[in-house]
Order: sequence, then structure tokens, then C-alpha cells
Amino acid sequence: MAETAAREAELLAKVPTGLLINGEWRDASDGGTFEVADPATGKVLATLASATSEDALAALDAADKVQASWARTAPRERAEILRRGFELVTERAEDFALLMTMEMGKPLAESRGEVVYGAEFLRWFSEEAVRDYGRYLTTPEGKNKILVQRKPVGPCLLITPWNFPLAMATRKVGPAIAAGCTMVLKPAKLTPLTSQLFAQTMMEAGLPAGVLNVVSSKSASGISGPLMKDSRLRKVSFTGSTPVGKQLLKDAANNVLRTSMELGGNAPFIVFEDADLDKAVEGAMAAKMRNMGEACTAANRFLVQASVAEEFTTKFADAMKALKTGRGTEADTTVGPLIDGGARDDVHALVTAAVEAGASVSTGGAPVDGDGYFYQPTVLANVPNDADILRSEIFGPVAPVTTFETEEQAIALANASEYGLASYIYSRDVNRMFRVSEQIEFGLVGYNAGVISNAAAPFGGVKQSGMGREGGAEGLDEYTTVQYIGIADP
Ligand code: NAD
Repeated sequence: MAETAAREAELLAKVPTGLLINGEWRDASDGGTFEVADPATGKVLATLASATSEDALAALDAADKVQASWARTAPRERAEILRRGFELVTERAEDFALLMTMEMGKPLAESRGEVVYGAEFLRWFSEEAVRDYGRYLTTPEGKNKILVQRKPVGPCLLITPWNFPLAMATRKVGPAIAAGCTMVLKPAKLTPLTSQLFAQTMMEAGLPAGVLNVVSSKSASGISGPLMKDSRLRKVSFTGSTPVGKQLLKDAANNVLRTSMELGGNAPFIVFEDADLDKAVEGAMAAKMRNMGEACTAANRFLVQASVAEEFTTKFADAMKALKTGRGTEADTTVGPLIDGGARDDVHALVTAAVEAGASVSTGGAPVDGDGYFYQPTVLANVPNDADILRSEIFGPVAPVTTFETEEQAIALANASEYGLASYIYSRDVNRMFRVSEQIEFGLVGYNAGVISNAAAPFGGVKQSGMGREGGAEGLDEYTTVQYIGIADP
């Protein structure tokens, strides 16, 4: 116990607490600070400088000053900085994992998984940095030529959520570095420590001063507001909730900023009667319980063909009952706390309303007494199709199950949402997978797979889940702009 506390204190002492502006860690211009707490205990972990509008503008100033020289660096040089970043994050995997568990709550094994996933964006984009292809072609009329080249967009504002503290940062910082953009990163105030350590690591990896600036702050709009009014900013990449994304899109309209929006989700998890039900339960556990259900890709609606619904629900509830809630640092913990008391109240309100509307509780259904914001892993059966819980992002360890009779009904139910991020299909029939994928409106489809995020794949949604893609070759496009040169009869 004393050993764990000492290890945690030693790690916290390594995390910079200032703002990173132009390569230096400094205090906020008004001396302001904010606290970061452990959601498993409520205890304060660290006190960080809280950036003001003035600090945000100083960060943009630094980013703007080095944009032109950074854009001219050899792609190989940027690639090698990213590669070193990948290696350093990987070497320090245990530090990053423990820090994420401390500030966000997820079990250590999941934090380790996020380090591998998050670091991979640095490696992937180090490989993509040197493949920024253009083209040269003759016009259809002949003689004249068209030269197409890609350039970095320019200084970017990167805003990240609290739920994946490392991966959400590397998914943006990686391609921005690869493309030759400079940036101001604004991490979520609930979990900024991982970004602070990550930024320090990238500086050690050789990033020049001013390329990456970090302005953690207790006031999000106090940072985004002035930056988005400043004509030196060229792009906003945001991951977070749909309401905040909509507000940022309005703000972006003033200067016609490029935007990437990774917003909320309401993933259907469709189980057909021809599925391998044990594999479907395994996939359901991963799709629902990773990150305690606090993921934009979390399965939010379990649509199960009526003939197998009872069997699936029983097996699913049994698997949920075997989980163990606790502080993520404890070896046997499989479910950590929710991020704060408000988040837990919201989850419980959805469960209560679903039960009032006629759902039955197969397991769980209540907050866990004691310290921290724990909620019981929950399965709700017979959830009416018009229940609020099927329309809202649950963001907690709660799985509502509802049934369908035909494939057409499953498709209609899946599409009955304003969101369109992740979806999951379980069936042994590959033709069905193609047929259903054609008709469902989602950016990501997991076929017999409960976890589909991969740095090599284009991650992103349709409808109110946003626009733009992170990862894959598409991830680099988000940070480049196209210039065409028309050449007369050379
Ligand atoms: P949030 O929208 O509350 O906050 C996200 C970020 O925006 C934070 O850094 C926050 O400080 C900042 N922010 C909040 N209000 C702001 C404002 N008015 N102006 C500027 N910035 C503001 O979301 P959250 O609670 O941190 O994260 C959970 C949400 O993120 C869920 O909806 C989840 O689905 C979504 N998410 C989406 C993806 C994806 O890739 N699509 C990934 C992870 C999370």
C-alpha cells in the first residue's frame, strides 16, 4: 500500500504542472490554477496552471511564429520526431498507464491497452509523414498541365475529451506533426495530466519550441473563444460531445475555419439469430464495458433477434455479474469508477426511467455505495423501443437489450438515431454483413468484432457524430490543404 502510494507520488512529481508555450513551461498569466482529482477516491492528485485567454493567445503566437519554418522541415525529420515519440511513450508505458488510471479511473490493464493504441498513432503517422502524395497531369484539352500539391493547413487548435487521455491527444498531434502544422492543445480539465506528460515526452523527442503548445485550463470557452476569433488560427479539431461540437462549428463559421468533429455516438450492437452467441457475448462485453462504457464507440443499444434474445441476455448478464468494480490500480479490478458524481447521476437517471417505462433489470441497476463514483455493471432486458436510454449516450456500464424480428427491422432500429459513429453486427453470414453495412448509416462497423479502433483505419462518424476522420491515410488529409498550379503549355 505504502509502496503504491510512493510510486504514485513519484510519478506525479514527473508531470509538468505549467502551460507549455513556445517550448517553456510557465505559470498562468494571472497565477490561476485548478485541481485534478482521482475519480476512484475523490482525492486531489495535482494542481495545474489554468490558462487564461491571454495565455491561449501567447500559445497561438508561438505556433504562428514557427509555422512557416516547421512547414519547410523535411518530412523525414518530422517522421523521425514522431518515431522517437512513439519509442519514448512505449518505454514509459507504465508511467502513462498508471497516470491515466489515476486521473480517469479505468483499470490498469485497459490503460496499458490505451498506451499501445495511443502510441501507435505516432508510429503510424511517422510512416505516413513521408507519403504526402501530389500529382502532375495533362489537362483533358491537352498541352496545359495541372500540378497538385498538399500543404499543411497551418496553426491548429486541438480540443480533447477526458475519456481517452492519451489516444485522443496522439490521434490529433500525430497527424498534425506529420503534415507540418503547429498547434495549441487544450486537454479536458478532468484528465489533463496525461497530455502534460505526453507533451513533455514529445519535446524530449525533438519537437522544436512552439510547434506543440499546451494550455490546460479550467475554462474551455475562455481558450477556444479568443483563439477562434484570431485569423492566425486555421483549423479546429475537436473530440467531445455533440452539443459542444455544434457550438464550435458556429464559432468556426466566423473565420471559415477548417474543422474536424469527432462527436457523440449511440452504437447499435445487432445480434442475429445465426450469430455465434458466445462470441457475441464476448464482443458485447468489450464493446460495452471498455472504459466503463465511457466511450463514443460504446455499444449503447443491444438489438437482438427475438428467437435468441433470452439466451443472449442470460449469458450477457452472467458475464456482467463476474466483473469486479474497484480502483483501477488494484490487480483484480475489471470496472473502474465513472468520471464524476454528475456522470453517475445521469447514468442512474436513464436506468430509473427505463425501468419505469417497463424494462426489467437482469443484473445491476444501482450506484455502488462508498467512495468514488462506481456504478454496478447493468443489463436491462425488454427495454421499450421508445425509452430514452436508447436515444441518449449512456456513457456508463449499462446495457439495454431490445428485440427485433426481421433484418429490415434491425436496420430501421439501428438507423433510428441522430448519431452515426460505431455499429456492431454479429452474424455468421458474411452476405448479411455486406447487406446490412450497405444500409446502416454509421462511419464504423464491427463485424463479429467488439473493438475496432485502429490507427491504420479511418475513424469517424456521419450524421450528428461529426465529420472528418482520424487515423488511416485519411487522418493526414485533415491537416493538409490542396494547392493546384495551372501550367500553360510548358
Ligand atoms: P465535452 O464536449 O464536454 O468536452 C470535450 C472537450 O471540449 C473538453 O476539452 C472540454 O473542456 C471542451 N469544452 C467543453 N465545453 C466547451 C466549450 N463551450 N467551448 C470549447 N471547448 C469546450 O465532452 P467530454 O465529456 O469531455 O467527452 C465525452 C464526449 O466525447 C462524449 O459525447 C463522447 O461520445 C465524445 N467522444 C467522441 C469521440 C469520437 O472520436 N467521436 C471520442 C471520445 C469521446
